[in-house]
Amino acid sequence: MACGCCEREAPLQLSTKAGYVAHMGRIYLSPPHMGTDEITLLRDAFESNWIAPLGPHVDAFERELAAAVGVEHAAALSSGTAGLHLGLLIAGVQPGDRVVTSSLTFAATANAITYAGAVPVFVDVDPRTWTLDPDAVAEAMDAVDTQGHRVGALISVDLYGQLCDYAALQAVCRARDVPLVEDAAEALGSHSSEGAAGSFGDMAVFSFNGNKIITTSGGGMLVARDAAVTERARFLATQARDPAPHYQHSTIGFNYRMSNLLAAVGRGQLRVLQDRVAARRRNRDAYREGLSDLPGITFLEDPPGVHTNAWLTCITVEPEAFGADREAIRLHLEADDIESRPVWKPMHLQPVFEDCEMFGGSVSESLFAKGLCLPSGSSLTDGDLQRIVTRFRTVSR
Ligand SMILES: *Cc1c(COP(=O)(O)O)cnc(C)c1O
Repeated sequence: MACGCCEREAPLQLSTKAGYVAHMGRIYLSPPHMGTDEITLLRDAFESNWIAPLGPHVDAFERELAAAVGVEHAAALSSGTAGLHLGLLIAGVQPGDRVVTSSLTFAATANAITYAGAVPVFVDVDPRTWTLDPDAVAEAMDAVDTQGHRVGALISVDLYGQLCDYAALQAVCRARDVPLVEDAAEALGSHSSEGAAGSFGDMAVFSFNGNKIITTSGGGMLVARDAAVTERARFLATQARDPAPHYQHSTIGFNYRMSNLLAAVGRGQLRVLQDRVAARRRNRDAYREGLSDLPGITFLEDPPGVHTNAWLTCITVEPEAFGADREAIRLHLEADDIESRPVWKPMHLQPVFEDCEMFGGSVSESLFAKGLCLPSGSSLTDGDLQRIVTRFRTVSR
């Protein structure tokens, strides 16, 4: 019998006292969830022999994703990390520049800064939204300026599907003439009345890694209003080949384009994006329903006026009030084959970035200490959610 969450064999089905069927298969944090069109589109790519990089599905995926986000242009790439790297280069980041970003993010954000030869400068987050604190961003930029360095760019991070305070961040960037690169890797499908995730930066990046809300198994997209940005991205992503019949190069390029096969999968996934957002928001509702009476448990909520994709349901656990810490909960879930994960470990606490500067308070540290991401896949069943909630409630405290 196939397991709904992970598509693997589920060896046992047990009826429990609670009257629901608990399968004993592993529940993953955020597994891939294919719709029905992906395989048809993939077969079309095979049958048309557009196996080689690029092809009609890449062009169509770019058009369709740009339309979904409400921006004019998109360039399909091999990963979100590649998109961040190219985005920084296209924004004009030079070796030695400082690039300001959130400390609370996945390492890819900070790694891309180093690929461009720049130095990350980390900033703390707002405790309500878990996204960049605009005052601390301004403070960091002014400090970099005082040190005699150049701020090459700001990378805002739409963490766990949240939207940053873009009115404030755009004002901070505009006042200092700093390009804004939006890392929307986790936020495809989130929107406010001001626009969708990916429409706020001078350019923005999405990821289709296996754990994201839609996946091509691996892939990314750079989007922008300005066609020059995505044209430059396509040029750099295909080894920067000059327009000449022979192979001629006058700048260093990369092999960063998305394959036509994966773009076919991405097109199918994009067709079910709205369902995936709805499912992830339902997961969060179910957890809220099942857990919010517990003392010391707080949910990460949508910022005011924002409809997030609820990519991962995140909670914080106050150990004194709850009677156990997030690690005790994580291990208790893990012992029942339920995968949960601590909130991202802040970049300024990572050994590899320990020499980088950090501005603002210690909110990201506290969120790392107390934060837990619960299983959030869009294929979770009501039974899965009930199993997770029931297990959560039996942690010893
Ligand atoms: C997933 C992710 C990335 C990187 O995307 P890849 O496609 O895995 O390279 C970048 N930033 C954030 C915040 C992410 O979550």
